[in-house]
Amino acid sequence: MSAIKSLVAIYPGSFDPITRGHEDIARRTLRIADTLLVAVAHTSSQAKKSLFPVEERVEMIREVFRGEDRVEAVAFDGLLVDFARQRGARMVIRGLRAVSDFEYELQMAQMNRELWSGLETVFLAPEVDFSFLSSSLVREVAGLGGDVERFVSPAVLARLNRKLGR
Ligand code: ADP
Repeated sequence: MSAIKSLVAIYPGSFDPITRGHEDIARRTLRIADTLLVAVAHTSSQAKKSLFPVEERVEMIREVFRGEDRVEAVAFDGLLVDFARQRGARMVIRGLRAVSDFEYELQMAQMNRELWSGLETVFLAPEVDFSFLSSSLVREVAGLGGDVERFVSPAVLARLNRKLGR
């Protein structure tokens, strides 16, 4: 029997839709973890107005990572710590784009640690080209007719165009 346990990481977020920035963080995670659960939150503390329903966001993530069997996309409800524990994930991945992300991220990491000390939060920095990118900006630019091809995968672009009636 092997004493080495596989390391399951969980990357939670709203992914509305998944961007190249999220993809970059997910691929970096695969360098340090064995498997990655990309977990789309049903409930967001930030009460953002969503464009895609949760199930469609999950499908887009599956399309983006088709062929990568170490990535699983799922939706979850309720507390992240409960879902992570259920799924045997002991590492939460969050992306840090800029100092502006930091305060909220640190607070959340510390709260999650209070809730379950078995979970460690790991922050990863994206490729600098993606450091300005957010799903909300992609939604906004696409909604106003701007070209977002560079910021999302082709599968996501197709769904954005369909959703926006193009
Ligand atoms: P967004 O802020 O784009 O709506 P989410 O709520 O889906 O994103 O964020 C999930 C996680 O992914 C957060 O930790 C967020 O900081 C991170 N993230 C989002 N976009 C990027 C990016 N371009 N580069 C690095 N991390 C990112």
